[in-house]
Amino acid sequence: MAMINLKLLKEEAERIGVELDETALNNFDMLAQMLVDWNGRINLTAITDPLGIVYKHFADSLTAFAAVDIPQGASFVDVGTGGGFPGMPLLIARPDLNGVLLDSTKKKLMFVDYCLNKLNLNNQGKTLHMRAEEAGIKLELRNHFDFSISRAVANLRDLSEYCLPLTKVGGTFVALKGAKAQEEIEEAKSAIKILGGEIVDVKQLFLSDMGERNIVVIKKSSPTPPKYPRASAKIAKEPLGMPKK
Ligand code: SAM
Repeated sequence: MAMINLKLLKEEAERIGVELDETALNNFDMLAQMLVDWNGRINLTAITDPLGIVYKHFADSLTAFAAVDIPQGASFVDVGTGGGFPGMPLLIARPDLNGVLLDSTKKKLMFVDYCLNKLNLNNQGKTLHMRAEEAGIKLELRNHFDFSISRAVANLRDLSEYCLPLTKVGGTFVALKGAKAQEEIEEAKSAIKILGGEIVDVKQLFLSDMGERNIVVIKKSSPTPPKYPRASAKIAKEPLGMPKK
């Protein structure tokens, strides 16, 4: 018997504009079981009830597809993936995508690796144990991904400094945000411009049981200047685009 309500997940995904086939639905159910099982051993998430998993982890991760038309075979990096969100749901829903699931916490990535293996997604998805600011200065990762995506990692200004260097020129940075998105956008506007980005859309959705969600879509229209991203201490001390204290 399935652990989560698969009919509900299918309907929620359809509302977002995503068609989930039987393989995808079974994979989501296996992922829910593994999440609850591993969460007893390592702290991955506070959300472990079946309904919460459907709405707050799975459907919320899929909202990216409501805001951006992601081409077949696109590559992405999920910055601060934690227990694999939104990266794993994206790969389950769209096995044509290739994703790097990056996080600075090794033990969470052990869970993600385990799941990618069990779900036979290890050709499409790879974990990377690294800080985003370090990845952004590596030649093989900088300007590399068709899109970058992130949820619940940092404010939009700092997150832009993590994500835009990793995104190709012409590519997209997708930030999954909550009700305070507009405030974050105001605070991040000049940083996004400095980093070569341009906000092209903010898609507002109301997800059952989760309230307001805002998907901020940022196009990378020019290369990020070489001095970004800066080291994490500098990002914290001198927020980009803000007047110096
Ligand atoms: N994105 C997941 C989600 O929505 O469930 C996890 C969110 S969790 C609150 C934040 C994660 O971001 C943590 O796993 C943390 O290790 C990671 N993180 C924070 N700053 C980071 C950075 N600069 N580089 C890489 N990972 C980072």
